[in-house]
Amino acid sequence: MKENYFTELDLIEPIQRVLREKNFTIPTPIQMGGIPIVLEGRDLIGCAQTGSGKTAAFALPILQNLSKNQSNPVRRSTRALVLAPTRELAVQISESFSLFGSHLRLRHAVVYGGVSRRSQIEKLERGVDILVATPGRLLDLMEDAKIVLGLAKVLVIDEADRMLDMGFIPDIKRIIAALPGIRQTLFFSATMPPAITGLAGNILHEPQHIEIASNVHTTPQIDQKVLFVDRNNKKALLIKLLADENVRRALVFTRTKYMAKDLSRQLVRQRVRSDDLHGDKTQAARQQALNSFHKGRIQVLVATDIASRGIDVDNISHVINYELPYEPENYIHRIGRTGRAGKKGTALSFCEASEVGYLRQIEKVIKQQLPVWETQPFHSHSAAACSSSAKHRSSSSSARYAGSSGRKRSRSKKRYGSYI
Ligand code: AMP
Repeated sequence: MKENYFTELDLIEPIQRVLREKNFTIPTPIQMGGIPIVLEGRDLIGCAQTGSGKTAAFALPILQNLSKNQSNPVRRSTRALVLAPTRELAVQISESFSLFGSHLRLRHAVVYGGVSRRSQIEKLERGVDILVATPGRLLDLMEDAKIVLGLAKVLVIDEADRMLDMGFIPDIKRIIAALPGIRQTLFFSATMPPAITGLAGNILHEPQHIEIASNVHTTPQIDQKVLFVDRNNKKALLIKLLADENVRRALVFTRTKYMAKDLSRQLVRQRVRSDDLHGDKTQAARQQALNSFHKGRIQVLVATDIASRGIDVDNISHVINYELPYEPENYIHRIGRTGRAGKKGTALSFCEASEVGYLRQIEKVIKQQLPVWETQPFHSHSAAACSSSAKHRSSSSSARYAGSSGRKRSRSKKRYGSYI
């Protein structure tokens, strides 16, 4: 297959220079397809997830377009707005703008909640070219007129499906109402549930579509297994697994922040180097946990789904689903934290009897049956038996099963925002 190079894209020299400095030679598919569309000023729907290179796909052409129409930012305003669901993702996007724009003279700022507003307000006072924001803090600053959006001609919505999960859609609608009607809109989402397709239909103008297959379907380098286990044996199984020297850096997922905190505390008591990451922690504490994990000071990070996307820590050898996610799509995001950049990774999913329904939903979404690790020391025959009878029921009446689980999912979606 012929490979394409960044030099073939119509990017200006200051941007080509950064790409050379950073050894970015070959654009990813979303970059190859998306950059020309964004440079032309057209609207875009990109169906792609973190790890696909989507940040550069929008950051590079936005920087180029803004620098070609250089103008002094107006006080308390921005020329481009990027919305991200979590603080971590907002910080990562902002770092990408600093990096890719390092040879350009554009100002950017990032605002998110959980920290003092003061330095954010100071930065906005002079005006910026690019503002990266989480919805809550942005609305808060808009209400106090610390930022006005009337001059923002470019809007990026990143991880729109995550915004939906976290209950941000009403906030997004209020923010969009404050933007000029004539603007360029770029919309990224890993999945396109109906509510997201509906939102996109309302806010984009004749968009181009790019769909990048999820890396789970296409990357055999993630070795996935399900471990049937009784609830009261889960902790012992986890500790056993963590004692294996191959488990160098493990990201362990729970469904609730309570469980994340509690489990990490219990691991520390067992002398496992561990910390937790969830929505109850301050931004500084979250960043500290991530840094410790990144630097290898801790072996285990116990996290809620807040960390299932956007966290770009290298060399995570294992993702362990201590509890299966309510939303099957989150399984894909969780396990996508390992097996990155061509490396091998392992994803182990604990499944107790009451979680068998979640397992079925995951297998439907990933279109494959997960291999069972039967020889692990805490294998639960009863949970495994529940699974095979659920499988039988689902194949004999798949329509009925899908209907009832669909209702269950929409209920869980409403519930779970505040738990992570
Ligand atoms: P993203 O999907 O935007 O979060 O990017 C995932 C990771 O891939 C980031 O660490 C990027 O710096 C890196 N990356 C993105 N595009 C390229 C590229 N074309 N070549 C090499 N690395 C890239």
